[in-house]
Amino acid sequence: MNWRVVSCALFIIAANASADPPIKCKLAIAGGGPAGVYSAWRLLTDPATSSNYNAKTAPLCIFERSSRFGGRTFSIRNQGTKKDLVVELGAYRFCGSLDPHNTTGCEMYMPLIASLTKNALKLRVASYEEKGDEDGMVKIVDDEGQNAGLLTYVERMMNTSIALGLQYYSLHQLDDFDVTASSELPLSNSGATANVTFNLNFANGKSATASELLLNLPLQPAMRVLQAARTRKALKPYGKSIGVDPVSSFLHVPMVVRHVKLYVHYDWAWWRNLGLTFGNFNLYGQQGRCGVTPISPCTQEMPLEGRYHDGHTRCEGAVDRGPNADCRGFIEATYTSDGVHTSNVSFFNAFSTAMDPPAADFDGDDFLVTEAHRMLILRHRPLLESAGLLRTRQRLSQPWRGSACGIPKARGLAQGLTR
Ligand SMILES: Cc1cc2nc3c(=O)[nH]c(=O)nc-3n(C[C@H](O)[C@H](O)[C@H](O)COP(=O)(O)OP(=O)(O)OC[C@H]3O[C@@H](n4cnc5c(N)ncnc54)[C@H](O)[C@@H]3O)c2cc1C
Repeated sequence: MNWRVVSCALFIIAANASADPPIKCKLAIAGGGPAGVYSAWRLLTDPATSSNYNAKTAPLCIFERSSRFGGRTFSIRNQGTKKDLVVELGAYRFCGSLDPHNTTGCEMYMPLIASLTKNALKLRVASYEEKGDEDGMVKIVDDEGQNAGLLTYVERMMNTSIALGLQYYSLHQLDDFDVTASSELPLSNSGATANVTFNLNFANGKSATASELLLNLPLQPAMRVLQAARTRKALKPYGKSIGVDPVSSFLHVPMVVRHVKLYVHYDWAWWRNLGLTFGNFNLYGQQGRCGVTPISPCTQEMPLEGRYHDGHTRCEGAVDRGPNADCRGFIEATYTSDGVHTSNVSFFNAFSTAMDPPAADFDGDDFLVTEAHRMLILRHRPLLESAGLLRTRQRLSQPWRGSACGIPKARGLAQGLTR
């Protein structure tokens, strides 16, 4: 016998012996964002469907790419000096109206989340703005009326689902899948039955089987998975039943729209002393060639496109605005997207360090925080001066600490300001 063949055969045996057996699910949901978690929660809590799943023999599984669930709903807790502030990196508020005529005047009518939080999950909500344009929009709050983070409703559904037998797998990015079916399949749920098995392959080398598959993914990753499945000819059982290629027929080409949020923490929330508790502000400064390459230094001034009402603040005592207010917290210095100002989003390219989590944390000494502070003071200088809150010509002797762009870890007092 040729020795090469023997060694090859041994290698294959070893590889097979070390592979984990596939995870067995009745239904596999890919994507642990709000939609994926809601689907699981709904199926497991609704008496009409819950009996279809059995934690031991026919479980419902969620496979999530990252180390956390919630997707683009991402609330960061325990922030600020006293670790009692929440920062919303993604979604943060919704229309609280259940009135089908939407008489509250929200621009976006969102009855599903409004009913879910109020009637099913019994979460407390409060007006999103203290006073302002976004009438009817609400945020989830805790028993003290403080911002609890929008992620709370996803966490509630996840906890209930796990108690009801959901198997949740983080760090399981679905790469592609294969379908074996006893007969040709319709794409929609027309009631046709066939013996179907989805064989799922994950980026971490693990695999799973399921008789039902729900892709609760954003369009771009969904396209990647479906393209890979098509390459494998896994979608063949669906092909003839609709007469066309399902990948190109029911999904269009995804377009990525970048969003940037930049929060700056101050131990003294000076904008509240100026009476600024809601509304938008901006300052564009000098436009330059920033973000041309990810590592080129910025020659552009940092664009401000902020909102006073988006950052979480807490105040000592009953006075929460005006000259006597004593508050601390976050100001949202910029919240922009390609849909608003592409060049402003590009300014932040150089500071975006990771996709998972899609946030970066900067210290008070970092350029971005120093620049954000400088621009915020520049934008508010006349008001600060007339309120006697700005120390002009002061040497910045004591380093101030702030934090920006997503996750903050701020402490201390902003230099140049006096209380
Ligand atoms: C900056 C920002 C602000 C927003 N503000 C609001 C708001 O105020 N109110 C509001 O209602 N909505 C808001 N939204 C929209 C809201 O966040 C989304 O509508 C919601 O998160 C969509 O949920 P989803 O489950 O469909 O998708 P996602 O939240 O995107 O979740 C998809 C999940 O799939 C995972 N995933 C991706 N690829 C794979 C793979 N191959 N395998 C396994 N898992 C995978 C992702 O990691 C993610 O966890 C905002 C969004 C952003 C970005």
